[in-house]
Order: sequence, then structure tokens, then C-alpha cells
Amino acid sequence: MSTNILDIYRDCPFCLKLLFEPISTLCGHTFCLLCMERFILTTERVLQCPICRDDLNYLRSSSSHLKVNAILHNLLREQYEKEYELRRIENENERKQMIKKRFIIGNTHHLPCDNDCTKHEWTFFIKFDNDDQDDISEYIKQITVNLHPTFTPSKIVLDNAPFCLTRIGWGIFTIYFTIEFHSQWNKSDLKTSWFLSFANTGNQKTMVVEFQKTTDNLNNDEMS
Ligand SMILES: [Zn+2]
Ligand SMILES: [Zn+2]
Repeated sequence: MSTNILDIYRDCPFCLKLLFEPISTLCGHTFCLLCMERFILTTERVLQCPICRDDLNYLRSSSSHLKVNAILHNLLREQYEKEYELRRIENENERKQMIKKRFIIGNTHHLPCDNDCTKHEWTFFIKFDNDDQDDISEYIKQITVNLHPTFTPSKIVLDNAPFCLTRIGWGIFTIYFTIEFHSQWNKSDLKTSWFLSFANTGNQKTMVVEFQKTTDNLNNDEMS
């Protein structure tokens, strides 16, 4: 009896393969751990269960919400021994090819004139985490920044690292920008935004972007 039920629910709704390291969401649906991690990383908008559209935003707050269901893991491993082992190898290879990069997006802020507090100098920036030794320009080709229309020009292309832009203005607004990655990463443009902060020295946020190693950059790895 349990075999029949497993046969019905054994596949992951994302990859349509045998569930590997199954995790269950609060809405009761089950996915591969790796598939769910990818879904969280690549979804810019509100996170919803692909089956029932339930709110899954709680998954973003902490990775501790993603715990493998041990009973199901063992059941699948026992029931589909060879296939589960193949999925394990496949998973391991995929994880080896995955590069997660933490981008820091934000702006610095200061008042250049003590007696004129309507003028704010700010620098919008996109950089790697401080402990990341990699060169950001090997990932990002260029960033197109759209400022408030009162700036001339209001559209600026940053095509060199460091990717930053300094202006003096009187008000806060949302900076819309598009990141274009180098073609070897085979990654579509990323459109996102930053709400300028005039609080003290500014503000920043972290954005994790997943890259897949290609044969080109795998070779680079072996050389280093
Ligand atoms: Zn999956
Ligand atoms: Zn669901």
C-alpha cells in the first residue's frame, strides 16, 4: 500500500525527477532541497508555492526552514535504491557547478555643506562581499542605471568596476537598474531596484545570485 502512495508522490514538482533530499513546505507540498534553494534564489517577486500558491516568503528568512524530511528521505532511498543513488550523484555534481555570489547593493550618504542641508551627496554601489576575493568585473559586464528624471542624464551605463555612481541631489527616490552579466555565464539580465537612503551614512542590502560554472570557467578553476 505504502509503495503505491510513494509511486504517486515520488517526483519533485520542479525537476519532475525522483525527489532527492525532500523538504516539505508549511502548505504540505514536497520538493527537492536543491530545487527549492534555486527557486528561492531566482525568484525576485513574492515567493509562492508552485502547486497551491501559498505564501512561502518565510523560507527567505532563514535556511533553517529547509530541513530534509528524514522519514521520506529514507523511504525513497530504500524503495528506489539505484535511482536514489543516481540522484545523489547528480545532485553532488550540480552543487559542485553552483557558485553563489553575494552582491552588496546600497548607497553611501553625506551632507557636503554644513550650512545647506538640502544638498545630499550619495554614491550608489554594487560590489561583492568584503571577504570575496573574486573580481566583480568577471561576472558583471555592465549596469544600466535609471535615476529620477530630474537628473540629466537620467540613464547611465556603468561598464567598469567599481560599479558606482556619485551624485548630489535633494531627495530620495527609487533607482531602477539592470545588471548584464558576461555571456559565458549564460544568464539573463537582472532587473532590480534600490531605494536611496539618506539615513546617516547610507544603507545597503545583500542579494545572492547563483551562477553555473561552464566548461570555460571550470578550466580556469583547475589552473588556479
Ligand atoms: Zn527537484
Ligand atoms: Zn503548496
